[in-house]
Amino acid sequence: MSAMILDGKAFAARLRGEIAGHVAKLKETHGLTPGLAVVLVGEDPASQVYVRSKGKMTVEVGMASFEHRLDVDASEVELLALIQKLNADPQVHGILVQLPLPPQMNADLVINAIDPAKDVDGFHISNVGLLGTGQKSMVPCTPLGCLMMLRDHLGDLSGMNAVVVGRSNIVGKPMAQLLLGDSCTVTIAHSRTRDLAEVCRRADILVAAVGRPQMIPGDWVKPGATVIDVGINRIDEGAGKSRLVGDVEFDSAAQVAGAITPVPGGVGPMTIACLLANTVTASCRAHGLPEPVGLTA
Ligand code: NDP
Repeated sequence: MSAMILDGKAFAARLRGEIAGHVAKLKETHGLTPGLAVVLVGEDPASQVYVRSKGKMTVEVGMASFEHRLDVDASEVELLALIQKLNADPQVHGILVQLPLPPQMNADLVINAIDPAKDVDGFHISNVGLLGTGQKSMVPCTPLGCLMMLRDHLGDLSGMNAVVVGRSNIVGKPMAQLLLGDSCTVTIAHSRTRDLAEVCRRADILVAAVGRPQMIPGDWVKPGATVIDVGINRIDEGAGKSRLVGDVEFDSAAQVAGAITPVPGGVGPMTIACLLANTVTASCRAHGLPEPVGLTA
């Protein structure tokens, strides 16, 4: 193996430490406690795990955590009323509605009901537009975490060829916008892309956000490239066992790449740390205070 392993777990722990420092200072100097409200509708087991760990880490960095649970049969009107209440609550600086929502709810409508200034997931159409036009916005957490790792490892990204495989609204598209913002030459690949292998081989920075286990082998990776594997896929190992893998075939890619994120322990931990970072940023903006450096794009 020749690639450097980009340890997202350690990076995220460091970032949470910095966030805790900023939170302590905000409390001490301004009597301000950043607050994050997480709304969970229904009892999806994976969502419950995410919500629990978000709540735990919010409290660990000294912020206020507000958890709201609605029944799986709750109406859209009920959820919208809760969002209005949270929009108006001065103790709440960030609102996250855990996705997916049950079928009776329209996720776009719900997300766009959140006050854009409190939209710490960065999914509100106003934030999407602000990011797309290079203006100050709330940046989606997973791409923000990827960008932080890339800048940390590579420094200045300008002029690099970046290929993002995947064009979802939550990962692929905002990732591409952020890389463009850092003056990369960006290609977005997707399921209709012709000769994906060749496209990937041109990448100095290769971001995989597809959701297909190990679909990118080492011989699609340019020697020395930096590979960011966003995919989280559970594969069956037989005998009742399973394990998590990314969208990149780690062992072969690590022979060729200059640096690579592992799965688990790469991008995943950065996502929650960036959610906390966005909440601190939102609380500072809400109070007209200077934003701590290094917490946003
Ligand atoms: P989506 O399913 O929304 O998007 C997947 C994208 O991959 C689509 O744009 C699709 O193209 C493209 N795609 C599918 N098959 C191929 C193929 N054969 N070749 C090229 N492109 C293909 O997924 P998400 O963006 O939400 O998530 C992607 C992965 O990232 C998942 O594994 C998810 O679990 C993980 N994830 C991890 C997070 C973390 O914190 N680490 C956070 C969020 C997601 P098309 O548009 O043409 O259909």
